[in-house]
Amino acid sequence: MLTKGSKAYSILKMKCPRCHDGDIFFNANPYVLSQFGKMHDRCPVCDLKYDMEPGFFLGAMYVSYGLGIAVAFPSGFIFSQLFPDLKLYQVIGLVLIEIILLMPILYYLSRSIWLNIFVAYRKN
Ligand SMILES: [Zn+2]
Repeated sequence: MLTKGSKAYSILKMKCPRCHDGDIFFNANPYVLSQFGKMHDRCPVCDLKYDMEPGFFLGAMYVSYGLGIAVAFPSGFIFSQLFPDLKLYQVIGLVLIEIILLMPILYYLSRSIWLNIFVAYRKN
């Protein structure tokens, strides 16, 4: 599944959606905070312009929202099963802490997914 040419490869490895060779971010590890969010303007390999139009990455917020929901609800369920004595507000608090800790990876993934929605892999 994680082979070049699949969307999952590009998304999870933070590679250019068109050539699957160039990096999207300066550093694919979102927890290197000194370089957090720093993206190449263009793919260093195939020259694809990542920020295709002004505000292009605003749409990634919707992806990020969806990812957040997809993490929050199962986590809330798991926390409530693991710690049955917790009150609802405590479970929500745990989920919020989890989401905050995961924010960097959700941010990176959402941009990577957003790019992959619009750009297809092209074998060169
Ligand atoms: Zn490329």
